[in-house]
Amino acid sequence: MTIEQVPTWHQPSHPDYIAVKTYKSGSFSKYATASTRIPAGTTIAEFSTAATPATAKAYSSLQVSETEHIELNSDLLYSNHSCDPNVIFDTDSQTVTTIKDIEEGEPITFNYLSTEWDMAQAFKCECGSKKCLGEIQGAKHVPTKALAGYFLNSHIKRLLEKRDGGLQ
Ligand SMILES: [Zn+2]
Repeated sequence: MTIEQVPTWHQPSHPDYIAVKTYKSGSFSKYATASTRIPAGTTIAEFSTAATPATAKAYSSLQVSETEHIELNSDLLYSNHSCDPNVIFDTDSQTVTTIKDIEEGEPITFNYLSTEWDMAQAFKCECGSKKCLGEIQGAKHVPTKALAGYFLNSHIKRLLEKRDGGLQ
């Protein structure tokens, strides 16, 4: 399925750090890469400035609390999933920060399970990481034990605690 993404924002939205590239084929045609070499620990974006509440959970929305989803309305939308990512989307501080050095041209990725509880569209991950979790459909569908060692946002931790009855 091809989804034609029509940006509603001025592009590029984060030229200092993000360059959007286009796949020659595939279902999601665009992806975010580093526009320059970015050291670990760099905050590359604040997503609150452009974000708006999402009217419905969608492939493009980001979950920011136990009940709320937002549309990013920026090139951050094109950040792909990896089970061994190089940035984190922190929904408490509403910032995107690198957790590894990223080379220019390298895809910018985050772990969708760190924000999403039960995704609108599941997909099979092909990140190739040794830590790959396989089918990605939200943290709800993964045992808490399997999520150990991954950065998780506070709302995902709370939802896991509720699901597991407080047991870890
Ligand atoms: Zn993976």
